[in-house]
This record gives sequence, C-alpha cells and structure tokens, in this order.
Amino acid sequence: MASFCFADFLFKFLVIGNAGTGKSCLLHQFIEKKFKDDSNHTIGVEFGSKIINVGGKYVKLQIWDTAGQERFRSVTRSYYRGAAGALLVYDITSRETYNALTNWLTDARMLASQNIVIILCGNKKDLDADREVTFLEASRFAQENELMFLETSALTGENVEEAFVQCARKILNKIESGELDPERMGSGIQYGDAALRQLRSPRRAQAPSAQECGC
Ligand code: GDP
Ligand code: MG
Repeated sequence: MASFCFADFLFKFLVIGNAGTGKSCLLHQFIEKKFKDDSNHTIGVEFGSKIINVGGKYVKLQIWDTAGQERFRSVTRSYYRGAAGALLVYDITSRETYNALTNWLTDARMLASQNIVIILCGNKKDLDADREVTFLEASRFAQENELMFLETSALTGENVEEAFVQCARKILNKIESGELDPERMGSGIQYGDAALRQLRSPRRAQAPSAQECGC
C-alpha cells in the first residue's frame, strides 16, 4: 500500500450510529472490498486506512470504528476528537436506529467539531422488503440537518466507496474555498508530503502540524 508520504492530505473519519446498523461491515467492505460475514466478528476491526483519489488529489482516510463502544452508549470523547468527516449510519429496516440519529448528530457536532462533514448512510439497502424508513423521509432529515445522504449496502457493496469519497470530496471543497483551515488545531486534517512540496508559502511550510508526516 502506498504510504501517506505520497498523499496530499490525511483526514480522520468516524463511523457512528447504533450497534447493529452495519458500521463494521461498511468499514470492512470499503477497505477489503468484501462483505464481513458473521464468523469474522471476533476480529473486531477498530481502525482502517485507505488512500483514495478525489479529483486528482490523493487523500488518506484514517477511519475509526467504535469497536463496540456504542453498545454501552459510552463512545469516548477521544474517539470523536479531531475528526474531519463521519459516516452516520442507520439501518433502513429499523426505525429505532433512525430515531437515534439526532443524538448521534448532537454528539458528533459537540465532541468532534462544529465543522465536521457528515454523510448519512441508510444501510442494508439490499433488505428493501423489510424497510421501515423511506428514502424520502431520510432525505428530508438530511436536508434539514445539512447532511449528505446515500442508501448503502455493506452486503452488496452498493454506494459504500461513494459514501467515503463524497464525504472526502466535500472536505476538499471546503479546504479549497477557505471554509476549512487544515492548520487549525483539531481540524482532523493533515498535509501529506505531496501537498507540502507544492506549498510555496514559507510560513505554512514551517507550521509544525504541516511537517508531521504520519507515515
Ligand atoms: P455494527 O454493530 O454497527 O458494527 O454492525 P455490524 O457491522 O457488526 O453488522 C451488524 C449485522 O448486520 C451483522 O449481522 C451483519 O452481517 C449485518 N449487516 C451489516 N451490513 C449489512 C447490509 O448492508 N445488508 C445486510 N443484509 N446485512 C448487513
Ligand atoms: Mg461494529
């Protein structure tokens, strides 16, 4: 795998939402490109990373999974700290997981950052026959709360890569428009070597946060 040294940026991402919505499976599908079947559940993936190409820029996503903490409603502050983006996941066959979204959103904006870019993922799209939450209802919720929105399936892989890429693209757009400052503490964003080489301003190149490689 290419190292972070070849990436332009490093973004910290979270996957949040009720237990059982498929967060670990989404992470596994994104990294491994296959469905994590239940026999694998002892290998609790807590962390994954992958480099993606977004409009010609290489972005390393460093993705944190809750590692089961959400079962006890005790997802720690350190989990949220400094995240640039998040997948907020519910299960389209469970209204209970949809009803919990507001609480997750409050925590993310309070404990991560007010500027965190969030994509709402209605997972288990393949189980349409058991659906309890319509696409329209969830898209309205997303619009009202300034979230991007996709329905995904960690089983078939549908829209899984897209969810991560769309979130990363929005963060990049915000950096380019100046709305997000990667050098602000806790932004969840670091420069990679490739980006540092292109930065002409000596002030920026000397910033300690920009010099850390993170490989
Ligand atoms: P987490 O607690 O949010 O991490 O959820 P898991 O990733 O452990 O998944 C919970 C259960 O949902 C497991 O039995 C998975 O096999 C199942 N699951 C996850 N994603 C999907 C999906 O997209 N479609 C279907 N049909 N099942 C899924
Ligand atoms: Mg899990």
